[in-house]
Formats: sequence, C-alpha cells, structure tokens
Amino acid sequence: MLTVPAYGATSATEPLTPMRIQRRDLGPHDVLIEVKYCGICHSDISHARSEWRPEPYPLVPGHEFTGIVTATGTDVTRHAVGDRVGVGCMANSCRSCANCRKGQEQYCLRGTTLTYGSVDRDGTTTQGGYSTHIVVDQDFVLAVPDAIGLAEAAPLLCAGITVYSPLRRRHAGPGSKVAVVGLGGLGHLAVKLAHAMGAEVTVLSQTLKKQEDGLRLGADHYCATGDPDTFTALSGSFDLIVNTVSATIDLNAYLSLLALDGVLANVGVATEPLSLNGYNLVAQRRTVTASLIGGIRETREMLDFCAEHHLGADIEIIPAQKINEAYERVLASDVRYRFVIDASTLA
Ligand code: NAP
Ligand code: ZN
Ligand code: ZN
Repeated sequence: MLTVPAYGATSATEPLTPMRIQRRDLGPHDVLIEVKYCGICHSDISHARSEWRPEPYPLVPGHEFTGIVTATGTDVTRHAVGDRVGVGCMANSCRSCANCRKGQEQYCLRGTTLTYGSVDRDGTTTQGGYSTHIVVDQDFVLAVPDAIGLAEAAPLLCAGITVYSPLRRRHAGPGSKVAVVGLGGLGHLAVKLAHAMGAEVTVLSQTLKKQEDGLRLGADHYCATGDPDTFTALSGSFDLIVNTVSATIDLNAYLSLLALDGVLANVGVATEPLSLNGYNLVAQRRTVTASLIGGIRETREMLDFCAEHHLGADIEIIPAQKINEAYERVLASDVRYRFVIDASTLA
C-alpha cells in the first residue's frame, strides 16, 4: 500500500481539504501513475456535493488527469515506466457484458467502475486524480500523444471525449451546421473539435462576453441566448446542437433551432425533469438524445484526432490550495476554459 497526499471532500457541504489516501499494491495488470495535471470538471462539483446520488465520503474527485508511469505490474504490456499517460472517468468495467464487448464500457451492464466514488473490483472505494499517485488497470490507462502537452491533454479525458462522441456519432463535418450551447469546459472543446472536423460552428452562450474567445477557438458565429431575437433568427438552422449546459434550460426553444432530422444531443446534466413539446419534435422529425463520455477505443481515437489537429484544452493551471475557489468560479460560469490542478502542489 502506498499512502499519498490528496485533496477531497469529507461531506457534501464542507469545502475540499488536504487528506492522505491509500493506493493499492500493484496487481499484475496495474499501472502506477505519478499524476502531473488534473482537470476540474463541473461533474466533480456535482459529485463532491452529492447532487446526483449520495456519495461515499471521504471522496477525492478528479476524472481527467495525465501523468507519467512510474511502475508496472508483472503482466502489463500496454505501458512502460516513463510513458506519458492519462485516465478519464472509468477505472474498470466487467469486460464481458454486451456493452463492454462493443467498446462501450461506460455503459457496462454490471456497472462501470468510475475513477472515484465507485466500489472497485477489490471492494475498496475508488479515489480520483486530485492526488499525487494512482493505481489503475492498464486497459483503462490511455497513452497521451507527444503532440499534446500533458496539462492541455488532461481535460480531453473527460470534457474532450464527452463532446467528441456525439459530434462523431452525428457526423459533424463539412456541410453540417453545429451549434454548441454553453462555452465552458465541454463547450470550448466542442467548438474546437467541431471546427477541426470541418463543420460550420455557432456558439450559443448566455451573453456576448466571450464572443472574441469563441471566434478564436474556431466558431464561425456567436449568438447570445439572452437575446430573444437569436431564437427567431436561427429558427430551423442546425443539423446538430450539442447542449453542454449544467443547468435546466428551455429545451423547446433549442428544439425549434433544428432543421429537418436535426439532433439535440445533451451532454450537460440537469437534475430537474426535462420538458419537451411533442409538436416541436414531430414537426421536423427531430431527435433528442444524450450520452455519457465515450468508450476506451473511442477515447484513443479522440486523442489521435487531437494530436493530428494540434488540439488541447485552453486551461488555467492552479495550485491545489485554490480548488475551492475554482469550484465557485466554475459555478459562476467564470472559467476560461478549464481549471487544471498542478499535482506537484499537493505534496
Ligand atoms: P462548465 O465549464 O461550468 O460549463 C457549463 C456552461 O454552461 C457555462 O460555462 C455556461 O456557458 C453555461 N451555463 C451555466 N449555467 C447556465 C444557465 N443557468 N443557463 C444557461 N447556460 C448556463 O461545465 P462543464 O465542465 O463543461 O460541464 C457541463 C455539464 O456537462 C455539467 O452538467 C457536467 O456535469 C456535465 N458533464 C457531462 C458529461 C457526460 O458524460 N455527459 C461529462 C462531463 C461533464 P456560457 O457562459 O457560455 O453561457
Ligand atoms: Zn467530467
Ligand atoms: Zn460490462
């Protein structure tokens, strides 16, 4: 067992504090990673505060991190000491159910082992990347291509794959019109990725405050959803809308922005029930869908795509001592565009 420094929540209502946690001894298929950078996802806040389900405490969040392999188990073949690697939201799955066999481990029928807050295959509770070291099964460790910096790569492991997956599945590319709702961690990567795929990209943000950034990130158009004229002007114009908003929004207003056979893909997680107008759906044969991150194979493909297009997250690196402040800034939509913890400040 290795005892390592971490930052975590002791309850749903207290700020995160420094703590020490234990990492298991290396099993034959395990990799020991020295964490270098860990992104702060909006979901970390929802988990830390038990907004989606009661979480086990103490809870160390962090499900998009990168680092260096410092030791490997006896049967590890995929990674070697010194390799640049990353881990996303999953630490394991059953490998044998129908969904795992399809490379959709995030929908494992026996329950995906999440990187934190899950009961691991050995019965212990998983703890995430706000820590200096972690032990993960080699199959859930991803090689980070040399073309992407470790800090810029960290947010790709959750935010990146979460938006890459619906963009790919819904064929974003030349000739397609894609709107991204919310220019935060997920949203800014959706803009970069959709632009790199060749789509015509529109940002739908609450205000025009971040317009210059949006256009620099690759958007062709930028509109404020706070302005009712936006919805009239853009009526029926998009093939795909990727909704990354963390709060409940009026989905009916966004549905009417879709063209014939258009798709509204939700990746943001609103906790209140969604309300949809049936007529708005049938009128143009529209589809509403939602998805959770992406599988391991698809995550590898996303990393290769990002390397090929020299694409990483726009980040603000912070020391661990600023995590609680960063949480408040994320909640206030004051993030440009992902906070990344420098794990060396945890020690
Ligand atoms: P984030 O950085 O906070 O971005 C969310 C953006 O939504 C904000 O920057 C803001 O953009 C917009 N927004 C926030 N509150 C709003 C409101 N009341 N009305 C309208 N727009 C609002 O969060 P994130 O890390 O990108 O995560 C976004 C959501 O995705 C969260 O719910 C998170 O839990 C979820 N998530 C889901 C998955 C998945 O697998 N499906 C994976 C990761 C995260 P503007 O300022 O531009 O309006
Ligand atoms: Zn996340
Ligand atoms: Zn499975």
